[in-house]
Amino acid sequence: MKPATKRETQPAVSPEALIRPEVLAMAAYQVADARGMVKLDAMENPYRLPESLRAEVAKLAAEAALNRYPDPGGAELKRRLQRVMGVPEGMALMLGNGSDEIIQVLTLAVAKPGAVVMSVEPTFVMYRMLAVAAGLEYEGVPLRPDFTLDGDALVAAIERHRPALLWLAYPNNPTGNLFDRSALERVLDAAPGVVVLDEAYHAFAGASFLPELGRRPNVLVMRTLSKLGLAGLRLGFLAGPPAWLNEFDKLRLPYNVNVLSQLVCEAVLAHPDVLDAQARSLVQARGELAAALASIQGVTVFPSAANFLLFRSANAPAVFQGLKARGVLIKNLSGAHPLLADCLRVTVSSPEENRVFLDALRAVR
Ligand SMILES: *Cc1c(COP(=O)(O)O)cnc(C)c1O
Repeated sequence: MKPATKRETQPAVSPEALIRPEVLAMAAYQVADARGMVKLDAMENPYRLPESLRAEVAKLAAEAALNRYPDPGGAELKRRLQRVMGVPEGMALMLGNGSDEIIQVLTLAVAKPGAVVMSVEPTFVMYRMLAVAAGLEYEGVPLRPDFTLDGDALVAAIERHRPALLWLAYPNNPTGNLFDRSALERVLDAAPGVVVLDEAYHAFAGASFLPELGRRPNVLVMRTLSKLGLAGLRLGFLAGPPAWLNEFDKLRLPYNVNVLSQLVCEAVLAHPDVLDAQARSLVQARGELAAALASIQGVTVFPSAANFLLFRSANAPAVFQGLKARGVLIKNLSGAHPLLADCLRVTVSSPEENRVFLDALRAVR
C-alpha cells in the first residue's frame, strides 16, 4: 500500500480561509475585449510613431542586451525625463511600470493601521482599489454634480480624517475637467500628509503643478507616458522632494522598468516634438468632437482638458450596447457612481475614428 500523502491526510485550504477579506471582497480590474473594435475606451493615442522613429526602435530592440538586467533605477531615462518634462532643479524622480505601480508603492509606504487615503469621487479607481487592498481606510469626497471641486467639503474632510495620502487627478478621470486652481491651493495648504497631483493628461491640459514642485514640501507630481502615446511600454514617473522619493524608492521592486521600455522611451523622448504634435492634434480634435456631441439633441458634454470627453445621454447603458453592436467600444460609467448616472466616456481619436463614433451614436440614439 502506498503511504498516505499530505494531500490525502490534510483538509485542503480554501482561498476563502487564507486570503484577506478585503481582497476576497474586491472585483478584478475589468478590461473589455476590444478585438476588432474601434477602441475608444482607454484613452490611448490612436497614432503610431513615424517611420523613421519606428526604424530606430527596431534597431534598439535588435541590439538591446536582453540577457542583462535593466538599469535598476533607470538613471539615464530619469535624466532625459527631467530635461524633457522640465522637472525643477533639486527634485528627485522615481520610475514606475506605469503610474499604477507608483500608486501601489505610495499606498504600501503609508499603510499603517488606521491610516487614511483620500481623493474626490468620481475619480481614478486605482486610488481606492489599492488602498483597500492594502487594508487602509479610503475616503472619497464627492465632487459637485457638475464635477467641479467642492473645496469646502474637501478641506473639511481633510481636517476630519487627516489623510496620510491625498490623490488629486489634474485633469480628473473620468470627468475630464481641471479643478479650480485657487480651490486646489487651499486644499494643498490644508493637507497634513502627502498630496500627489496625478497629471496623467498633462499633454492635453495646458496646466500643471510640475513647475511649482518644491514650493510645498509634501506635494508631488505624477505623470505617465501612457496617454501620450506609449501605453504599451508602461512608464510612469513621480517627481518631488528627495526626502519623500528616497523612502518610496525602497518599496519599488528592483528592475521594475524593463530594458526595452527604458531604451525605447529614451529614444522617443529624444524627439519630444513627435508626441507633442500628436497631442496638439488630439486637442484640436477634442474641440471638434465636443461641438459635434453638443449639437446632438439630448446629449450633454462636460468640459474636458484631457484626451477624452464625458457626456450624458438618456439610456446610456443601451447607447453603450448599441455602439458596441456597431463595433465602437467606449466606456459606460452609468452605475459607477451616483453622480455619473447616464454618463459615457469616449476617447478622442483621429478625425476618422471620431466620425465613425459620431455616426454610430446618431444611429443608436
Ligand atoms: C490612465 C491613468 C493612470 C494610469 O496610467 P498608467 O501609467 O498607464 O498606469 C493614472 N492616473 C490616471 C488619472 C489615469 O487616468
